[in-house]
Amino acid sequence: MKVLVINCGSSSLKFRLIETSDETVKVKGLFERIGSDKGHFVYTPTEGSKYEKDIPIPDHYEAVNILVGALTDPETGVVKSLDEIDAVGHRIVHGGDKFSHAVILTPDAIKEIEKCAELAPIHNPVNLLGIRACMKYMPNTVMVGAFDTSFHQTMPEEAYLYGIPYEYYKRDRVRRYGFHGMSHEYVANETAKLLNKPIEETKIVTCHIGNGTSIAAVKGGKSIDTSMGFTPLAGVLMGTRSGGIDPEIVKYIAQVENKSLQEVMDILNNKSGLYGLSDNLSSDVRDLTDEYVKGNENAIRALKRLAYAITKYIGSYYAVMGGIDAIAFTAGVGENSWLVRKLICERISGMGVTFDEKTNNEAHGTAMISGPDSSIKVFVVPTDEEMSIARQVVQTINAEK
Ligand code: ADP
Repeated sequence: MKVLVINCGSSSLKFRLIETSDETVKVKGLFERIGSDKGHFVYTPTEGSKYEKDIPIPDHYEAVNILVGALTDPETGVVKSLDEIDAVGHRIVHGGDKFSHAVILTPDAIKEIEKCAELAPIHNPVNLLGIRACMKYMPNTVMVGAFDTSFHQTMPEEAYLYGIPYEYYKRDRVRRYGFHGMSHEYVANETAKLLNKPIEETKIVTCHIGNGTSIAAVKGGKSIDTSMGFTPLAGVLMGTRSGGIDPEIVKYIAQVENKSLQEVMDILNNKSGLYGLSDNLSSDVRDLTDEYVKGNENAIRALKRLAYAITKYIGSYYAVMGGIDAIAFTAGVGENSWLVRKLICERISGMGVTFDEKTNNEAHGTAMISGPDSSIKVFVVPTDEEMSIARQVVQTINAEK
């Protein structure tokens, strides 16, 4: 099956065309600065030459129009006609508690996704824009929606409920949802393969550490807890997000700093985390690593705090899963930062984890970084959210047959 995967952001659209029978990528690319005269289009076929150009891209409709033209272009295209594309898989951030797996985007499903926009007012409307644009230019192609939240729908009630009046859960759907589901699912599956065990028999902690960070406890292939919550602001500190804090702090900062609620929330989302804690040095772990090794106390403080926060989640997931077979590091920081992985592995040595410093330093792509005597295997596993979406599209279409 040929599946076109679409991942829409507010001013970007990433795409990938995947032949799912052997999981080969035919072409990938992205549109940036959508909505501007100075839009940018990058098109990278696996066979053939890559090109990129600056062109005005007024909206997501125009991006999809340019994309279908490029895909079928006699010189640069990868299909003769759009009929060769069997399905389009769309990434949708919030599926609320309505979507526990990917679905075919019928008019009813789209209505439900519109309702979930209350929970993700920035992301879901953009995702819907991408869906509508694809429906316009590929009216005969099956559209499937895959959700960042759905993998975590298997969490038990005790993991997703907050200790607030139950009526807010029943009436307003206030609960832990969790995000990065495609990444956690993909990485857990790849980790089970590395363990050489059926996923049903595994207990895995997946650490998705990027600009946004979330940790998940995956038992028997199902998410049973995760660090992000009602929104992606919860859990461990991130590039610029605070992670979980005492909610009274919001009121206190508003009072003593004379700020509005919106201003405080902006600080927690955009000026906190590694950036805020490093005294505005950087949110980027590459910069912080350079400074850490030079002994910069701002960088040391921020990265130690990050490692500490992640260590606490690993410890608590050991408790709730009754053990851990493997820990997997993924995403921009998890895949690339020897330092963050080292700081975490050193902290969990009390659990019997040993790690191989040389392998950790040199890890590039998939690698086992734990020592031979480690009580828990520790891996670096590159994530692939687009491939996860393509797999979900195939499962969804096959289930309909
Ligand atoms: P997002 O959450 O935006 O998808 P990514 O998963 O792409 O983020 O992670 C981006 C982050 O990964 C960067 O901000 C940077 O901190 C980190 N990163 C990327 N490359 C490296 C590297 N070589 N070493 C350390 N950190 C890196």
